[in-house]
Amino acid sequence: ATQPYNDTNIFARILRGEIPSQRVYEDEWAVAFHDIAPQAPVHILVIPRGAYASWDDFSARASADEIAGFVRAVGHVAREHGLVAPGYRLLANVGAHGGQEVAHLHVHLFGGAPLGPMLS
Ligand code: 5GP
Repeated sequence: ATQPYNDTNIFARILRGEIPSQRVYEDEWAVAFHDIAPQAPVHILVIPRGAYASWDDFSARASADEIAGFVRAVGHVAREHGLVAPGYRLLANVGAHGGQEVAHLHVHLFGGAPLGPMLS
């Protein structure tokens, strides 16, 4: 079984507009905003609008439209920020060993400089 979703998490509150964020993109399927503690010159978080606790939960339960919409949104944000030619990194932490702190699926988008071997 996948993790239950709890809509009091901080990204659920950002989605509802209860907590401010610096949004850089939003559409029917996804919202993207700057990470509050950037670990690279560009550090954007992309989250689905749907209530999914993690990559595991999303990949198990989301519809094909939700999955396609989310994946396209991540690619769109990277292109919009000029990250494709120089290159960038995608990361999704899952669960305790992955170091996941916020239990709403988010993909980290890192770029803007050559990246070291790991970023969390
Ligand atoms: P995780 O470890 O769950 O993959 O990453 C959570 C990320 O969310 C961290 O990079 C952290 O800096 C970011 N973060 C935590 N709280 C907030 C917040 O209130 N606003 C924004 N924009 N980012 C946050």
